[in-house]
This record gives sequence, C-alpha cells and structure tokens, in this order.
Amino acid sequence: MTQATIKRIAVLTSGGDSSGMNPCIRAVVRTACYHHIEVDGIYHGYRGMIEDKFKSLSSRDVGGLSARGGTILGSARCREFHTVEGRQKAIANLKKHKIDALVVIGGDGSFYGAEALSQESDIPVIGLPGTIDNDIAGTDYTIGYDTAVNVAMDAIDKIRDTANSHERIFFVEVMGRNAGYIALESGLAAGAEQILVPEGPTDVKMVADELLEGRRLGKMSSIVVVAEGDDQGGAFDIAEKISHYANLPTRVTVLGHLQRGGSPTANDRLLATRLGYASVMALMDGQRGVMLGIVNNKVLSSSLTEREKAPKVCLEEFEEIRKAMQI
Ligand code: ADP
Repeated sequence: MTQATIKRIAVLTSGGDSSGMNPCIRAVVRTACYHHIEVDGIYHGYRGMIEDKFKSLSSRDVGGLSARGGTILGSARCREFHTVEGRQKAIANLKKHKIDALVVIGGDGSFYGAEALSQESDIPVIGLPGTIDNDIAGTDYTIGYDTAVNVAMDAIDKIRDTANSHERIFFVEVMGRNAGYIALESGLAAGAEQILVPEGPTDVKMVADELLEGRRLGKMSSIVVVAEGDDQGGAFDIAEKISHYANLPTRVTVLGHLQRGGSPTANDRLLATRLGYASVMALMDGQRGVMLGIVNNKVLSSSLTEREKAPKVCLEEFEEIRKAMQI
C-alpha cells in the first residue's frame, strides 16, 4: 500500500502500560495529520478493537501529552484476541472504520497479536516497542524502560538513606519477571551491593556469606536489588531464605507498579517521538509486518514474524563491570 492509498490509520496501546506511550501516540497522530492521514485511537488495546471502541483523534486531542505517564488510550489484556474468531471481529471493525493501517504500541505479547492480525488480514501493521522490561530484540531500548530505571534508581537512593541510618540490609524488589534489565541497570546506577536477576541461578548462601563478609569489614548497611522473577523468589522469599543462614537486620521494599508510572524521562519522550513519527513514515513507505526500534541511535525496522529472542542481560561487559564493582 502506498501513500496515496493510506487515508486512515488506527493506533492502540496494549499489554503492560509504560511511561512514554502518550508522547508516542502524540507523535503518531501529529505526523499522520501533517500528511493528511486521519487517525482513530482504539481504546483498551485489542479488547477495544473487538468491542468497537474507536474514536477519531485530532492534533489537538493529543496536546499536552509529552509529559504525561500512562496512556490516554488505556491498555488491556484480551483473551479473546488469542482466538481466530476474536481477531475476525477485530478485523471486521477495522474494515467498518475504513482503517488502512495500524500502529500497535506494546510489548512482546502485543506483537504476537499484531503478527496474527497481519497474517489474517490485508491491513498493514507496524509494532512499536512499549514496555518497561526492555526485553525486545531489534531495539536498544523500549519505550518506558528508561523511566522505570530512573524511578527504581531514585527509590533505591532513598532507601539507602534509611539503610545507612539504621545499619540495615534492604532487599529491594523491582519489576522483571523474565528479564533483569531494570534490576541490573537501576542497581548499577544506584551502587547496589548485590543484584539478583532471573537470567542466572541465585545462590542464596553465597548472597548471605557476602553480606556477612561485608559486615565483618565494617559495611553495616547494604542494598540487594532483586528482580521479581529471580529463581529463588521475590525479595520477601529471598530475605526469608537469607535468615536461615545469617542473623542479619533485613528489611524488604517492593517497588511494584510505581515503576510503570510518572512523567517519562527525556530519553523516553524522544524515543517515543522518534518511533511514533517513523511508524507513520514507514506506513507511507509501504512497510508492513515490521517492528521499529532504535539501534545505535538509528531507527531500524525488523520483521514482526521473525523476531529474534531478546538478548539476556548478563552481557559480558556487565559481568566484567559487576566483578570490578564487587557486585
Ligand atoms: P505485552 O504486550 O506487554 O507483552 P501481553 O503479553 O499481556 O502484554 O499481551 C497483550 C495482549 O496481546 C494480550 O492480552 C492479547 O490480547 C494479545 N496477545 C498476546 N499474545 C498473543 C498471541 N499469541 N496471539 C494473539 N494475541 C496475543
């Protein structure tokens, strides 16, 4: 499909929300309007596509979104979209609204949905990576990740103050069921003593021994950052297991959904804006079935259907840094 035939596109946000989705919607809508393409927002992701929750968006409707966390379109998880029947209803609604192309902002799950839709209809689909987890291959960063890392880093900095005052060991749980990026980068940035990620096995006894050794050497407070998907459990489980090996004054903080919210960082706003703009340009250029990401500071498109697995966080470089920092 070429520029001449794309008259109306739709945009939706799906799966776990992330900060930066709003500036991304803004960029999609403004770029499309500039090129005389009409835009429908679909509310609550694929559920809204099935339930016909479409609304026309103008440039003005997306004003003031740069600094706003969350997503004005709402997000959702939708079981029905896993079925062919569900997707057929969704496709019928896209046709009813004369949608020529679709932009899906979401995570890996949302891309499976986008891929299925792309294969079962003639509607071009472009995926933009929006997730705090940064677990998508084909982009150096996902929209919302930088904000989540900064929120976690700020929280760890604050916890450090009280940990120091009371000479305690804090286990801080951050999000990341399958990926330890948030734990690794927020932990490194905040100078955590230990970082536990799901990508490798955690030896609880070794963690306890290192905390004890730290105390012996005069380090009375420590921060252990735990990704929620660690193989030994979340921060509460690990603190409990540590207590079997060592009598230490431990406390646990679970950051939870704090990490999804808040005003996006400059990096997330820029990433969102660049990718939102690029998605409309790519559709006008006839691209379909691709995800757009930023690699080495350049917009890059990769196949939605042949997505590679995201690399694991324990990259060699990080391993070396961790060794040198004694983390
Ligand atoms: P995320 O996009 O953040 O990874 P999910 O994994 O929950 O979030 O996926 C979001 C939605 O994408 C799901 O609720 C579902 O509607 C759709 N989806 C996920 N996987 C598939 C799939 N294999 N086939 C069709 N739709 C899917």
